[in-house]
Amino acid sequence: MATILEIEDLSVHFPIHIGTVRAVEDVSLNLEEGEVMGLVGESGCGKTTLGFSILRLLRPPGRIVKGRILYHGQDIVQMSEKEILSLRGRKIAMIFQDPLTSLNPLFRIDQQFIETLLTHEKGLHKRAAFTRAGNMLESLGISPERLLEYPHQMSGGMRQRIMIGMGLILSPDLLIADEPTTSLDVIVEAQFLDLLNDLRKQFNLTIILITHNLGNVAQLADRITVMYGGTIAEVGEANAIFDNPLHPYTQGLLSSIPNIKLDKPKLKTMPGSPPDLVNPPSGCVFHPRCPYAKDICKVQKPETFSKDGRLVSCWLYG
Ligand code: SF4
Repeated sequence: MATILEIEDLSVHFPIHIGTVRAVEDVSLNLEEGEVMGLVGESGCGKTTLGFSILRLLRPPGRIVKGRILYHGQDIVQMSEKEILSLRGRKIAMIFQDPLTSLNPLFRIDQQFIETLLTHEKGLHKRAAFTRAGNMLESLGISPERLLEYPHQMSGGMRQRIMIGMGLILSPDLLIADEPTTSLDVIVEAQFLDLLNDLRKQFNLTIILITHNLGNVAQLADRITVMYGGTIAEVGEANAIFDNPLHPYTQGLLSSIPNIKLDKPKLKTMPGSPPDLVNPPSGCVFHPRCPYAKDICKVQKPETFSKDGRLVSCWLYG
């Protein structure tokens, strides 16, 4: 498999009045063509900021302060505004958390598809754009007749499928899905994940699935990247991480989710709270919550070690 995306030593900061929020710090990550990468961690761990950085969608004052994001070898960080505009949607698409706020309530679904198509494909006839939008809806299991409706006339599950359709209509090869099932109930959520899996095969998509829901990741992801405090804790094959998490944070995260196969009366909780990213802890950012913290953890940031085919940023494996 060829590498589609390489993130090298990326840091994203938000200077604010009380200091600098170090939302993403020294992150490196590779993504192979056709794989689904689950990006997981607690709220505020930097996963959405990382997703937004890939498309250069950071809102001010957020900015990339160092590092490279190579898409097929081209550095997105260095691209001009014109180059990034031609990449967005056409090559890399993003679907957002809440479809009701992402779709324009004032326009019919067909108008929103057609606008996207005509903006990116100069010379395309409106009729052809309408037909393509109808075909896309059909492949998402929605009758093309519903193109003439407004977002508020659709159910939450349909709106989310339409958001996927908007993301895929220009045939991108990389899809970033940011908490795509947050607003769905569990049944629609399961259908949505099945659909995403089918579309992945149909369109030969590479997917970054940003979520705090480990169940979603277990269902879809080939590999998992676990983030904590703006840094990467662990990267590896999904099954291996679920079977034997190596990083103490990953262990804590997995032991805090219910497992119907285990007869555990109580779920384990992780002590403490996520770090203050304006004044992050010294050394390992997880050390105030880590049951295995050693002296070195308090003063020196852990290196990334290779262990059992995984990458783990923890001194336990050095
Ligand atoms: Fe815990 Fe130290 Fe590993 Fe950080 S580096 S996770 S504090 S053992």
